[in-house]
Amino acid sequence: MKVNVEPSNFIEDFIVEDLEKGRYPYVYTRFPPEPNGYLHVGHSKSLCINFGIKEKFRGRCNLRFDDTNPAKEDVEYVESIKEDIRWLGFEWDKELYASDYFDETYELAVKLIKKGAAYVCDYTADEIRATRGTLTEPGKESPYRNRSIEENLRLFEEMKEGKYPDGSKVLRAKIDMASPNINMRDPVIYRVLRAHHHRTGDKWCIYPMYDFAHPIGDALDGVTHSICTLEFEDHRPLYDWVCEQCEFPMPPRQIEFARLNIKNTIMSKRYLKKLVDSGFVTGWNDPRMPTLSGMRERGYPPEAIKEFCSRVGVAKANSEVDPGLLEFCVRENLNIHADRAMVVERPLRVVIDNMAEGEKHSFSVVNNPNDANSGTHTVNFAKEIFIEDSDFALVPPPKYHRLTEGGLVRLKGAYIVKHVATELDAEGRPSVIHCEYIPGSAAGGENAGMKVKGTIQWVAADEAVDCELYKYESLLTDVKDGVTDFNERLNPDSLTVVSGAKGEPFVVEGEDCKTYQFMRSAYYKRAGKFGDSYRFYRIVSLKDSFNK
Ligand code: ATP
Ligand code: MG
Repeated sequence: MKVNVEPSNFIEDFIVEDLEKGRYPYVYTRFPPEPNGYLHVGHSKSLCINFGIKEKFRGRCNLRFDDTNPAKEDVEYVESIKEDIRWLGFEWDKELYASDYFDETYELAVKLIKKGAAYVCDYTADEIRATRGTLTEPGKESPYRNRSIEENLRLFEEMKEGKYPDGSKVLRAKIDMASPNINMRDPVIYRVLRAHHHRTGDKWCIYPMYDFAHPIGDALDGVTHSICTLEFEDHRPLYDWVCEQCEFPMPPRQIEFARLNIKNTIMSKRYLKKLVDSGFVTGWNDPRMPTLSGMRERGYPPEAIKEFCSRVGVAKANSEVDPGLLEFCVRENLNIHADRAMVVERPLRVVIDNMAEGEKHSFSVVNNPNDANSGTHTVNFAKEIFIEDSDFALVPPPKYHRLTEGGLVRLKGAYIVKHVATELDAEGRPSVIHCEYIPGSAAGGENAGMKVKGTIQWVAADEAVDCELYKYESLLTDVKDGVTDFNERLNPDSLTVVSGAKGEPFVVEGEDCKTYQFMRSAYYKRAGKFGDSYRFYRIVSLKDSFNK
């Protein structure tokens, strides 16, 4: 078969080759999360690969929950995983669970026993570990290895019937205790475990191991390409062995790629769960969390996450990506899609002396200069306004292009103003300043062409909205003095709340959770109203720290 698809990485190269050689008549992938936590940004890479292949090769992709470990799994996680995948814009063909196949998996284990390819072993977990050998030494065969097929069948059935306590017996694949690959040294494929399962309830007291259940699930679903991360490379011979022993007519092909690692970013559900349980964060969707739900809460556009995955690419070698690349993708997206608004973080009151009380001059401003369809909104210039405290300096540092005593500055979207007087507080700091606006200096006016060095944001005092700004930093600090342990690297300053900011009314208009570029500040998402004040999450700064 000739395939008219341009492969863009080594996985797609393999797929094209498989199709052209007729190994598979179509392409079928799956995304196989374990429902033991929320998805993180690492998973988005696997999602982009598996669903990307589906789209590119006009194939199919299932969502298959790997629920073989009942003790750690929960329905809450199943629901969150589905929500996060949909949020990224992917739609699976079938929703399946490894547990859907517990009956078939059991029957296939019986089949292996009948072929003499599996046996019941009475060793404890410790004994199995102790006799497994090392990288340089072969393992020792279990004394139970040569039980008769009849005895194995009876014992395995009794295991299922609940005759044996947890951990007292396992079913092992009979492969090769001297194999150079430790995974092939008679791995455990079933264990006795009395745990309530979120789907099968108390039906089973034996559960298959991932290495056994996974190839079976893949094959029974009709998956052609089972894409996983590099740590499963050494498990591939076992994957192929299971497919061969089960005599699947079209065994799927396992292909491994490098996990996504991001500097200073925790990429393990287990550890993220610890952060949630310890209360260091407010939950799985805390805006600082590298989870998809955290990023959604924070205001990251899903397209930016996909663009990030695409820029990282698919590799066979592990590496660590700069978090600045993800922020860069978020910023690029918001630059095109977020409306501009004026917010003053630390307000300094300005009285416009040549305006009358109650006088108002309205200006129409473009919502987003990068989006021709974004529309306009009105800003009102009035006698009392706020500017950023740091935009006025009594003693300006060198190259200061903002307002100084006697100086001029342009107020964004409105007039040029000239400073005339300063009122000081008890500590000698400016508390109120007085300015005069220059008539005709707004866009289109006769004095609009006047040269001023700086343009600053401002907000009319009488209509200003109270804002609370949640500013986020990385959850983890850099590795310092060889300290790599996450617990010792938690950043105590990962959240700073700034109260008392003032925003133009536009920041509370429009849909819930709207994202904005607060001019000269950062991108923010509106997160709701709390008391009299509106809360905003800082999504990402305006400045690029990423070195392209
Ligand atoms: P965790 O250690 O966070 O639990 P996991 O690999 O055990 O991760 P699974 O739920 O088993 O998580 O993962 C589902 C799929 O996502 C698997 O195919 C897995 O390989 C992939 N995946 C998980 N983490 C990453 C990552 N950092 N980069 C790329 N793919 C990942
Ligand atoms: Mg896992």
